[in-house]
Amino acid sequence: MDNQPVYDAVVIGGGPAGSTAAYLLAGFGHRVALLEKQTYPRDKVCGGCLSQKSVRFLERVFHLPVPSLREKGLLDSVGTGYALYIKNSRILAGDLAEPFYFTRRERYDAILARKAADAGADIYEGAEVIAVDHARRTVTTSEGDRYAARVLIGADGINSRVRRSLPGSVVDRQRWRKNLGWALELAIPRVEVGALANGDGAIRLDADLATPHLVLAACRWGYGWVFPNRETLVVGMGGLLEKNRDDRRDRFTEFLKTLGLSAFADRRPAGYLLPFGNFIPSPAYEGTLLVGDAGGFASPILGEGIFYAHRTAELAAHAVDRHLTSGAPPGEIYTALLARRLIPELRAEKALRDFLYGCLDGRLHAPLEAFMKATSTRVIDAVQGSRSFCGFRRNDGLHSAVW
Ligand SMILES: Cc1cc2nc3c(=O)[nH]c(=O)nc-3n(C[C@H](O)[C@H](O)[C@H](O)COP(=O)(O)OP(=O)(O)OC[C@H]3O[C@@H](n4cnc5c(N)ncnc54)[C@H](O)[C@@H]3O)c2cc1C
Repeated sequence: MDNQPVYDAVVIGGGPAGSTAAYLLAGFGHRVALLEKQTYPRDKVCGGCLSQKSVRFLERVFHLPVPSLREKGLLDSVGTGYALYIKNSRILAGDLAEPFYFTRRERYDAILARKAADAGADIYEGAEVIAVDHARRTVTTSEGDRYAARVLIGADGINSRVRRSLPGSVVDRQRWRKNLGWALELAIPRVEVGALANGDGAIRLDADLATPHLVLAACRWGYGWVFPNRETLVVGMGGLLEKNRDDRRDRFTEFLKTLGLSAFADRRPAGYLLPFGNFIPSPAYEGTLLVGDAGGFASPILGEGIFYAHRTAELAAHAVDRHLTSGAPPGEIYTALLARRLIPELRAEKALRDFLYGCLDGRLHAPLEAFMKATSTRVIDAVQGSRSFCGFRRNDGLHSAVW
C-alpha cells in the first residue's frame, strides 16, 4: 500500500490518546489515519477507573455525559465510597461527594475509536508500525505499508516504538527509567470470591464488594487496589519499578493473603508497565508529537492515565490544527500548551508523591496518617480534578478550553 494518500496527521496507536487525537483532528476537517496494531475490541491491562476528570472530559469533548456513557454500556460499575489503608490499618473511609466509575477497556477503546471513524478518520486495524522516519514524516507497518503525513502523533502506549525512535535530546532515558511504574492485576470473578475468600485476611472486604480499596505500602513506592467491577473484583498492585525489582510477584501474593484471597494466589496476574512520574515536558521532535502513556503522562501518585491520555491528545490535536492552518511549528505549540495546561499540575503531584511514598518508605506512618486525615478531602478533590495539586486551590485548568 505504498501509494497511500498523504495525510495531514497519522496517529500511531488507538487507545484513549490516539482515538481522541484522531477524533478531534478529523472533526477540525483534517485528513487523519489512525494505525492500531490490534483489532477492536482489544483489551488493555487496566483497572478501568474513571475519575471525574475523565468523566468531565468525555462529556466536554466527546459529548458523552454520564447517561450516554451508561446507555452505551461504558460504565460497568460505580464506586460511591472508598477505603484507604496504610498496610493493614484502615486510616480513612467514607462516602465520596462524586463517584468514581469503572469501565471495561475493550468496550471503552472500541467505542472511542468508532467515534473517531464517525468523525472522518481512516482507522487501520492490524497495522503495526515498525519504523518511523521523522524527517520524512512517514511510518512503515509490519506488512510493509507506508503512510506519509504532515504530522505524526505517537499514541502507542508505554512501550511506544515512536518514543524509542526519538533521540536522547528529547527523551531523558535515565529519568524515564527512574520514574517508570509497573503493575500486576488479577480479575477474579465475583461468584468465585464469594465461594473461596476465606475472610481471614487482615483487611476485611465489605460483604457486597462495592467499595474501592486503596492500600498504601502494599509494595514500595506504590499501592495495592481492589476495584469493584460488575462481574469481577479487580485486585492490583503497582508502583515504581526500580524500587520493586525482585519481589513483585511475592508481594502480590502477600497482598492477596492480606485481603483473604490467598485461594487465588496460583492464578497468574497480568503484568504491565505504566508511567509513574516520567512525563516528558517537551515530547516533540520535528513533526512528531507524543501523547498519553507514550509521553509518560499519568498521575505520579496513582498511575491513573486515561484522563492524561485524553487531555494530552486534546492539546496535541489543537497544536497540530494550528500548525496545519498557520504553519507554526507543532512541537513548539504543543510544548507551550503542555507547559501552561498540564506540567505544573504533574510537577506538584510528583512532589506530593515523593513526600507521601518517601514517608511510607521511612516508616513514618503516624505523621503521614495525620497528614492524610487533615488533607483527605482536598486530595480527593485534586484526584477528581476540581482542585489543583498546586496548593490545593480550586481550579478548572485541567478542563478549560485549549485557547
Ligand atoms: C494494571 C494497570 C491498571 C491501570 N488502571 C488504571 C485505572 O484504573 N484508571 C486509569 O485512568 N488508568 C489506569 N491505568 C493506566 C491506563 O491504562 C493508561 O494510562 C492508558 O491506557 C493510556 O492510554 P494510551 O492511549 O496512551 O495508551 P494505550 O491505552 O496503551 O493504547 C496504546 C495503543 O497503541 C497500540 N500500539 C502499540 N504499539 C503500536 C504500534 N507499534 N503500532 C500501532 N499500534 C500500536 C496498542 O495496541 C494500543 O491499542 C492502568 C494501567 C495499568 C498497567
